[in-house]
Amino acid sequence: MSTLAEQSVDTLKGVGPKAAERLARLGIVSLEDLFFHLPFRYEDRTRIVPMGALRPEQHVVIEGEVRAADVVFGRRRSLLVRIGDNTGFVSLRFYHFSAAQKHYLEPGTRIRVYGEVRAGATGLEFYHPEYETARGDLPPLEKSLTPVYPTTEGVTQRFLRGLMKQALDILRRHPPRDLLPRDLLQQQDLPSLQAALLKLHAPGPDDPVDLLLAGEHPAVRRLVVEEMVAHQLGMLHKRAGQKAQQAPVINQAGQRAQLLGALPFTLTAAQQRVIAEIDKDLAQPSPMLRLVQGDVGSGKTLVAACAALSAIASGYQVAVMAPTEILAEQHLRNFSSWLEPLGISVAWLVGSLTARQRRDTYQAIADGQAQVVVGTHALFQDAVVFDALGLVIIDEQHRFGVHQRLALREKGRRGKEVPHQLVLTATPIPRTLAMSLYGDLDTSVIDELPPGRQAIDTVVIGEQRRPDVVERIRNACKAGTQAYWVCTLIEESDALQAKAAEDTWRELQQALPELAVEMVHGRMKPKEKAQHMARFADGDAAVLVATTVIEVGVDVPNATLMVIENAERLGLSQLHQLRGRVGRGGEKSYCVLMYSGRLSETAQRRLHVMRDTNDGFRIAEEDLRLRGPGEWLGTRQTGELAFRIVDLMRDEDWMAPARDMAQVVLTRYPQQVEPLVRRWLNEGDAYADV
Ligand code: ADP
Ligand code: MG
Repeated sequence: MSTLAEQSVDTLKGVGPKAAERLARLGIVSLEDLFFHLPFRYEDRTRIVPMGALRPEQHVVIEGEVRAADVVFGRRRSLLVRIGDNTGFVSLRFYHFSAAQKHYLEPGTRIRVYGEVRAGATGLEFYHPEYETARGDLPPLEKSLTPVYPTTEGVTQRFLRGLMKQALDILRRHPPRDLLPRDLLQQQDLPSLQAALLKLHAPGPDDPVDLLLAGEHPAVRRLVVEEMVAHQLGMLHKRAGQKAQQAPVINQAGQRAQLLGALPFTLTAAQQRVIAEIDKDLAQPSPMLRLVQGDVGSGKTLVAACAALSAIASGYQVAVMAPTEILAEQHLRNFSSWLEPLGISVAWLVGSLTARQRRDTYQAIADGQAQVVVGTHALFQDAVVFDALGLVIIDEQHRFGVHQRLALREKGRRGKEVPHQLVLTATPIPRTLAMSLYGDLDTSVIDELPPGRQAIDTVVIGEQRRPDVVERIRNACKAGTQAYWVCTLIEESDALQAKAAEDTWRELQQALPELAVEMVHGRMKPKEKAQHMARFADGDAAVLVATTVIEVGVDVPNATLMVIENAERLGLSQLHQLRGRVGRGGEKSYCVLMYSGRLSETAQRRLHVMRDTNDGFRIAEEDLRLRGPGEWLGTRQTGELAFRIVDLMRDEDWMAPARDMAQVVLTRYPQQVEPLVRRWLNEGDAYADV
């Protein structure tokens, strides 16, 4: 007997090549797939409701005798069938019908009807209900609730149910092997796979349908936990593969003491802790794969620079990659100002270099002259060949997919050795997602801001108070600090965004003639953008009008006021990132969230969250709650999180038990690992990229 996974649906009666193809569109190829295709609703066809007790909008089964069947001519011709039992009468109405149908429905016929009760012209009516008739007795009623499945074109409900009936018969006769050990299931009060599937596809009339549908029934949880365990095992497998690789042993701090000694501040305890964690990883002969999470302004760059010094001291090159040129530029600024005084050469590689500059940079990278290379995706290009890449630092991880991360690692491969990887993210990743997205990474958290940072005060105000906001800018800048004004538009168009920024720029120049107002937007040439940014960063301009291009990484500690126009149009993470541009120095900072028009309920909730907290983790959790994981991650990453049964928000509490269970499976039942991973993950996913 083959397993359910091996048995194709086309072994069931009624499934020809065409149906098989349509089922495949629903993701159903094997019997196992069929079982994991869960109902989204159930209908109760186990009991008959007396006609006298019917109420509109109920879905019910009724049974009685045909009293009359007539073609009637109203606005539309229809077949009207009058039926009754000993408690009352109802009508069935068919707009599409055949002569034969009328013939079958002659008076005296026994009939059982399933459908929704409506208030109609003749009293209570059923429109095009499902029904069956008999001369004598009708067949027995259903014993279990009737599932309603997601369908697709060409696959009807009736067809799916028919298949499921056949498949459930097989399931009853041949219980599938439980891949989760029985004792672990029992500890969590979870049923066997067979029992869970029977419960989900054929619940009894008294089973708690609400719990089944809400995912709160042990039958659903049985599947949820197994899927989570499989994902965890997939991750552990990836990680084991990662650890089996070799990497350079880097065990010296290099010029760290000099770098830190030259700074006007000391490391926070959190920074020190994270640096120590990184040191430990780098000293291993297997590659580090570590994610550093830290709220905006927590000082991740410096932590990365310390790691870079270690790699350089051991004779290796370091690549620093950011998702945008502006952000890369910021890193260039930091790394150059910190490392060049120590005699370390920092190169720059982005798409906008001239051919000549690029050639020179490639050369410097290839012969090892460039010790640190800062750039964007341009670092991926085939023409880029490192002499001895030992450490890759990636900022703003969640804009890069896992695959890009691994591609970059391959880029640095020399024989058996691959470089270490350090991933920095300012977008706190809610616990729920972190475990499934980054289960293959070790994680460090910088959970402390440099001392003296004060919470940013945030206000939410309507667009009509714009003049007050302009005054606020005047006062802030008079006191010697600087201000951002961020323009946002719904339109994705760069051109329109740029125009909005230009209009505001002109308006502010007019209103604030005593202040130098600069502007950056996505339509500018990178060089122009950089010049304008630099004027603001150097303090030559007091106000920077910007589109959301400044979202990540810009660091101007003297800026204390952030105005965000049409703030209601931005998501929470984006607002948090933007607001994080202020509050970086010792001065108290402020953020003005300006909205126009009436706020929707969610927009209001978002803005209030921003007003009430500065805590990036809380904001991220709230954001995830408001938007759901798919949208939170953006389209690119959702593929990496394709769960069949698990709903990350709903099933959050099962994540930790599932992780523990995965460990037990791995150590005590290693033979179960591969079948579990194969059952739940695309094989390609689980075993690729190792
Ligand atoms: P992020 O974590 O958002 O990338 P940065 O690394 O850009 O933060 O650091 C934000 C600012 O804080 C920078 O100006 C940086 O020089 C400064 N900084 C970093 N560490 C400390 C510290 N321990 N004490 C004071 N300022 C610090
Ligand atoms: Mg940063």
